[in-house]
Amino acid sequence: MAATQWHERASALEIDGRAFINGQRTWAASEQTFDDHSPIDGRLLAKVARGGVADIDAAVAAARAAFEDRRWAGKSPAARKRTLIKFADLILKNTAELALLETLDMGKPIKYSQSVDVASCANCIRWYGEAIDKIYDEIAPTGDASLALITREPVGVVGAIVPWNYPLIMTAWKIAPALAAGNSVVLKPSEKSPLSALKLAEIALEAGIPAGVFNVVPGFGIDAGAALALHMDVDCIAFTGSTPVGKKIMQMAGQSNLKRAWTELGGKSANIVCADCPDLDAAVSAAIGSIYFNQGESCNAPSRLFVEESIREQFLDKALAMMPRFQPGDPLDEATVMGAIVDATQMKTVMGYIAAGKAAGARLVAGGEAARLDSGGFYIAPTLFDGVDGSMSIANEEIFGPVLSVLSFTDIKDAIRQANSTPYGLQAAVWTRDLTKAIQTARALRAGTVHVNQYDSDDMTVPFGGVKQSGNGRDKSLHAIDKYTELKTTWIQIG
Ligand code: NAD
Repeated sequence: MAATQWHERASALEIDGRAFINGQRTWAASEQTFDDHSPIDGRLLAKVARGGVADIDAAVAAARAAFEDRRWAGKSPAARKRTLIKFADLILKNTAELALLETLDMGKPIKYSQSVDVASCANCIRWYGEAIDKIYDEIAPTGDASLALITREPVGVVGAIVPWNYPLIMTAWKIAPALAAGNSVVLKPSEKSPLSALKLAEIALEAGIPAGVFNVVPGFGIDAGAALALHMDVDCIAFTGSTPVGKKIMQMAGQSNLKRAWTELGGKSANIVCADCPDLDAAVSAAIGSIYFNQGESCNAPSRLFVEESIREQFLDKALAMMPRFQPGDPLDEATVMGAIVDATQMKTVMGYIAAGKAAGARLVAGGEAARLDSGGFYIAPTLFDGVDGSMSIANEEIFGPVLSVLSFTDIKDAIRQANSTPYGLQAAVWTRDLTKAIQTARALRAGTVHVNQYDSDDMTVPFGGVKQSGNGRDKSLHAIDKYTELKTTWIQIG
């Protein structure tokens, strides 16, 4: 579709900013709202219900009632599967509207909102639907005199808190395994991009997920988010967001009812390119494509690039040749590959890191400035610093913007040591044709995922999550079902 048509659709879009509780749209009990502006051009998209304690209480009560009367948990896995597959089909049917909401609310290019965000969201829900009737319970080998069953049960009411960078995908990664396992869910989307999750809840109801099973309460972290994490009737809190807030979530879980707390947190992923890299063009393309994808607002963005000194100049020449492709453009133009930064606050944070990099003596090779200044939105040119050293904030802290820090190395052991030197451990990569070096490096890198001669492969079958201060949980794959189920042992005397 042409950009003009997307703009026309955007102008005609009727956006409902009310919460979704017990199958119904509702304003906050306090009647408070907040303004949701688009980072594309600053337009006011909607007034959104500002959920607080009372709304979280209502949503948790609805989720609890739905769980206790087993209107969803009591269905057979095969029945849940059918409904989740219908949910996935309806998501795809609503691709244009969901993609538009995602792009308007968060700033990402419409091309990716359709082909990545909506498609992955539907795929995730379909995948857990397909999986759930293929998981068997166990019988423990306790001998003839007894039968000991080990069964999986849903934990009950799951609270999910998600960030703004992939609103649909982060929501799907939480709700799909939780719903497939029979739980009820209360989701608190980010105040910066709450719209697509609200629409998703409507679609879930249409697909046949009973009222009360999937509730969405928009609002701010300090009130709606904290109310959910502290709630005494929430059995599990599944959080994706920053490391500082993740720490608070763990505390709130501990100080309330000791609910299970799963955290998926920040990253500062290291991408190590050795001189014997098997395909330099592929390494450059992955390094550049992955850092600027989603405007650099990805937890697993390879924001630290370690290049072996002997190929550094060649690497940089090739990288610079690719940069123009990532100049920010109109997110509603399907040719655009880099869109808007989510809001003024994030823009200020990223520009602050760019200033800090310059002040610390890193060499600004590309970008470094705001772009599309007359758009009314927030855009930053793809930025690359060379000559970065490990002591600089741009080498250690999560920037969450289109900024690549290049460090060089001569000894792989030193590169590994530096790669492991941040508090984060989400992802890492090594590029080499030497199999022994690849395996030794992959083993030595402290990260939830290590790539060899590639970056950012994605599949529902593999777990996604981090070590160290990148969190304690895993989304995706069958392992995520473990987060939302309890193991129950039932002893039966026979003899
Ligand atoms: P954030 O931590 O500021 O907010 C995340 C969510 O937590 C939002 O919904 C927010 O409203 C809520 N929140 C904030 N304060 C809260 C509080 N005191 N109590 C309860 N809830 C609270 O993060 P963000 O800026 O939205 O997202 C960016 C961060 O998310 C980055 O650090 C990024 O790396 C991380 N992230 C991690 C993954 C992963 O899978 N590891 C994926 C995506 C994003």
